[in-house]
Amino acid sequence: MRNLPCPQCDIHRFHVKNREGKFLVVTVNENYEVVAVHAEELLDGYDLSIIYCLGCSWQGSPQSLRAGRHRH
Ligand SMILES: [Zn+2]
Repeated sequence: MRNLPCPQCDIHRFHVKNREGKFLVVTVNENYEVVAVHAEELLDGYDLSIIYCLGCSWQGSPQSLRAGRHRH
């Protein structure tokens, strides 16, 4: 399954944050599901409603990463 890229810089890796302010590296698949890059990591306690791009200052919801944004 394809991972969705950042709408600003096109990289495919994002951070999510938990209540303690700890970050975890994730990707977002075509079903807008947030997936930990390291499979052993648990997403419990992380806020999956906001993701932070690793490559630029973009942040937003997984749903705002639209697949096929290059379509006209
Ligand atoms: Zn970005």
